[in-house]
Amino acid sequence: MSSATFCASKTHQGKSPGSNAEPVSREAAEEAVRILIRWLGDDPSREGLADTPARVTRAFGEWFSGYGADPADILSRTFDEVAGYDDIVLVRGIGFESYCEHHMAPIIGTAHVAYLPDRRVVGLSKLARLVDIYARRLQIQEKMTAEIAVAIQAFLNPKGAAVMIRADHHCMSTRGVRKHGADTVTSSFTGVFRSDTLWRQRFLHLAAVR
Ligand SMILES: [Zn+2]
Repeated sequence: MSSATFCASKTHQGKSPGSNAEPVSREAAEEAVRILIRWLGDDPSREGLADTPARVTRAFGEWFSGYGADPADILSRTFDEVAGYDDIVLVRGIGFESYCEHHMAPIIGTAHVAYLPDRRVVGLSKLARLVDIYARRLQIQEKMTAEIAVAIQAFLNPKGAAVMIRADHHCMSTRGVRKHGADTVTSSFTGVFRSDTLWRQRFLHLAAVR
């Protein structure tokens, strides 16, 4: 696999934001890590760091696997045998790790993801996988929140989608203003959750229920 590009090959075929990017070889990515290590003031050839560029690129491949994934793939399989179920479907507390697009610093958080089905439902685990697709890209929390809601609306065509995310931003806690304990809450609504206060309140109530 020495000729493998930084991301999986399908990365550059999907509709992800990286789809128009020039493929970068793994060797070039490892060299960039070596340069960063030298820039820090350390010696990339010393024993403890010798395999670090390869490990870093492998880790990056995992942390940023969202570029190689297409939300349409996971939301296309739906079920309509729901025995007349017509209320909110809400998956709460979906943990995720992302990276801010300004500093590539970790964003660690949880997401509540809901939709009001219009006859069709999707497997619950697919909602968690959808969060990962967008989390595993360079992100800002506001964009990620909207992208998840828009994808559910677009591919599942429910009566509405609602997403709420709470996250800690390491670019705010470990550098810059260095404020520990501050978290950020964002929400995004489509369909009835946007147009109807009662549905939005019902989502907020269910999200808070213990
Ligand atoms: Zn940042």
